[in-house]
Amino acid sequence: MGIDITRAVKYFLLTDFLKGFALGMRYFVAPKPTLNYPHEKGALSPRFRGEHVLRRYPNGEERCIACKLCEAICPAQAITIEAEPREDGSRRTTRYDIDMTKCIYCGFCQEACPVDAIVEGPNFEFSTETREELFYDKARLLENGERWEARISRNIELDAPYR
Ligand code: SF4
Ligand code: SF4
Repeated sequence: MGIDITRAVKYFLLTDFLKGFALGMRYFVAPKPTLNYPHEKGALSPRFRGEHVLRRYPNGEERCIACKLCEAICPAQAITIEAEPREDGSRRTTRYDIDMTKCIYCGFCQEACPVDAIVEGPNFEFSTETREELFYDKARLLENGERWEARISRNIELDAPYR
């Protein structure tokens, strides 16, 4: 078995250590992007896929028409929908649950939705203390929608030319 001279010289001169040390020193003196977090946050792409919301139209009507495309396409089977026709003949969900512990944030539900009802919003700060808090129901998702609607509609507008 021959000796790998190049490798031996690298070991002897500690080149890997010196490279690592130089990298560490570079970031030691670089400006810290997270220093004032959460008061200052980095920029987020309009395509960022964070916490889910269910949106409403400006007149308050739910966008979701219970077509179940999002439920069908979800690779993690995280979405559960039940629906019934309303008195006016339109169809709406009676149950819309997302198990956020299963979700892999692929965005397929958002892409499949014909009416932009289910959207992954810009919120990435929704950690919880218990598992149960990550089982979202329809009320929770609609509440999220109301909270994030301004940012989400702006993001959809910014992304529209690239679709
Ligand atoms: S983001 Fe992907 S995994 Fe999560 S609910 Fe939507 S389709 Fe399912
Ligand atoms: S959120 Fe969109 S895709 Fe899912 S059931 Fe409602 S309308 Fe259909």
